[in-house]
Amino acid sequence: MTVQDTLSRPLRDLRISVTDRCNFRCTYCMPKDVFGPGFVFLRRADLLTFEEIARAARLFVREGVEKIRLTGGEPLIRRDLERLVEALASIDGLRDLTLTTNGSLLTPAKARSLRDAGLQRITISLDSLDDAVFRSMNDVDFPVGRVLEAIEAAGAAGLHPVKIDMVVKRGVNESGIVDMARRFRGTGHIVRFIEYMDVGTTNGWQLRDVVPARAIIDALAAQWPLLPADPNYFGEVAGRWLYADGNGEIGVISSVSQPFCRSCTRARLSAQGELFTCLFAARGFDLRAVMRGGASDDEIAAAIARVWTARTDRYSEIRSEETRRMQKVEMYHIGG
Ligand code: SAM
Ligand code: SF4
Ligand code: SF4
Repeated sequence: MTVQDTLSRPLRDLRISVTDRCNFRCTYCMPKDVFGPGFVFLRRADLLTFEEIARAARLFVREGVEKIRLTGGEPLIRRDLERLVEALASIDGLRDLTLTTNGSLLTPAKARSLRDAGLQRITISLDSLDDAVFRSMNDVDFPVGRVLEAIEAAGAAGLHPVKIDMVVKRGVNESGIVDMARRFRGTGHIVRFIEYMDVGTTNGWQLRDVVPARAIIDALAAQWPLLPADPNYFGEVAGRWLYADGNGEIGVISSVSQPFCRSCTRARLSAQGELFTCLFAARGFDLRAVMRGGASDDEIAAAIARVWTARTDRYSEIRSEETRRMQKVEMYHIGG
């Protein structure tokens, strides 16, 4: 059964944040002046346990979810994540199980054990191939070579195709767009360029920092002829483009310049068990309270269905000066 919201959008995808902690301080996500040494993260008891996450996930699948992505914070910081992956992989009706990571903790052994536990695919974030630019964007001096090794490890473990996500910020890493595409052309990996978004309230986002998807495509098409490709499924966020010479594909996620709220089928579960129906929501529904209050499976599923049925979100379509100043949840909290 698939529930639909007020705009007839089905519930299809679930992003689960397994921790709010991260070992990076990407300037556009967890700027150091806000997320410094004194910042208080969630306590262990506040986090959903793996058992709670797996139970909730099973009920989301009952309500229509086909695809789950694990995220964070940095999901690989959560110990024994393989245990959760294994539990999720065994859910009947789940078609796709994937993970987004900064790659810093993805050794070859970790990639293999995640794959063995049932992870199907992986997305690794990488904002620049230029070591100095990358170190300053992650703001913890993490070298680009280690992320390239992680991408290699993921491919070798069979997590194909590896997606590589690059958030493009004007004047910071936009000059590296073509280099990033060139590096992964013909490897089978898929680079996706993401417009810098006004998520949360701490990153000082300004419209002029956004490089629109069209400009990204134009820069790439000037190097290699590109052909537009159809989406793989309803609600796919990335616009797909194929290299005309058969050397693979790239994606562009145009959340700011060409919003795709009309086909947004994503729910998000925070590390502390709040259910969000939009990346830009101010508040989530406290599913943890329902679960810890002793609700039955049917009651939890009904709560999920109720929240989704009432959903009206279309933030990116109505983005304005006013909406930008509204209270919004932070990206590290719900996992992008
Ligand atoms: N730590 C993991 C990582 O970086 O891949 C997973 C969580 S991170 C919040 C998920 C994705 O959101 C990353 O690819 C990151 O680059 C992206 N992201 C974070 N803040 C963003 C922003 N303001 N605009 C666009 N993408 C953003
Ligand atoms: Fe951490 Fe990912 Fe946010 Fe960077 S984008 S600070 S790696 S959660
Ligand atoms: Fe979905 Fe909200 Fe993004 Fe629109 S703004 S695409 S509703 S998450």
